[in-house]
Amino acid sequence: MIKRARRLRKNDAIRSMVRETSLVIEDLIQPIFVVEGENIKKEIPSLKDIYHLSIDKLEDEIHEICNLGIRAVILFGLPNDKDEFGSSAYADDGIVQRAIAKVKELAPQLCVISDVCMCQYTSHGHCGIVTGDGIVDNDETLKYLAKIAVSHAKAGADIIAPSDMMDGRVGAIRKALDEQEYVDVGIMSYSAKYASSLYGPFRDAAKSAPNFGDRKTYQMDPHNRLEALKEMKYDIHEGADYIMVKPALLYLDIIREGRSRYELPMVAYMVSGEYMMLRNAVDMGVLSENIIYESVMSIKRAGADIIITYFAKYLAKKLKQTGSI
Ligand SMILES: [Zn+2]
Repeated sequence: MIKRARRLRKNDAIRSMVRETSLVIEDLIQPIFVVEGENIKKEIPSLKDIYHLSIDKLEDEIHEICNLGIRAVILFGLPNDKDEFGSSAYADDGIVQRAIAKVKELAPQLCVISDVCMCQYTSHGHCGIVTGDGIVDNDETLKYLAKIAVSHAKAGADIIAPSDMMDGRVGAIRKALDEQEYVDVGIMSYSAKYASSLYGPFRDAAKSAPNFGDRKTYQMDPHNRLEALKEMKYDIHEGADYIMVKPALLYLDIIREGRSRYELPMVAYMVSGEYMMLRNAVDMGVLSENIIYESVMSIKRAGADIIITYFAKYLAKKLKQTGSI
């Protein structure tokens, strides 16, 4: 007798009833880039529809995000001043600290996640403190990351998201937060962040490209799978509350394995290059718009619980209009 799997695809009602994966607005995190200055809302040339916003321009953006039903944002700050030690990264009146406070004032119910790294703030563009030999000094960097994290918590961040890939950063940040009595501030660790070619548009957006060398001594080698599981294990052991894989679409196997192996919420960061590849393909008419939903859905199906994506507002609009796409 023929096994008739097609019975479950007979019509839309049946298909929707047996659907195994769903994407809801609560799964999405919208990235925001905040710049110094006033009255600035400037589209980032490398990231269509994504803007550099000054703090006074955050209000409209935050209201739109809340009205769409998005529950969380991740903030990136672009300072005016950079130095070797990234000192504007941990200043109480730094760009991202003021942005965190502003967003919390505008929408206390919105979950504010703050990216913790040094590359936007250092003159050399590396994610840590660089020694005279041009090496990123892991343990020295930890002290700075801890200071940055505490300054974000003080400003009101709900979750700290370290993206630097130094060894021991989750433990150092957890210890510093606890010592300052920020025990309820969570850590969303960029656990498996690969040295990917997909970050180009972000580096333009965040003005964070390294001015010498590359990031391969701290970001992961794209050939590796077991190493990603090891990084997740270390982060969990050090006190991470969420683990993350970045980028997403080329690393769905890593998302799946991490999700199957560990109990923590799995976050996937669908990065700038993934966004622009899809946007350009749709804008050029090469692929239909549904490719955006299908791509994000594949990240969910792979095992991500939460997705950071530049498509968050776009998807939320679609989901709000139709309930599903
Ligand atoms: Zn960095």
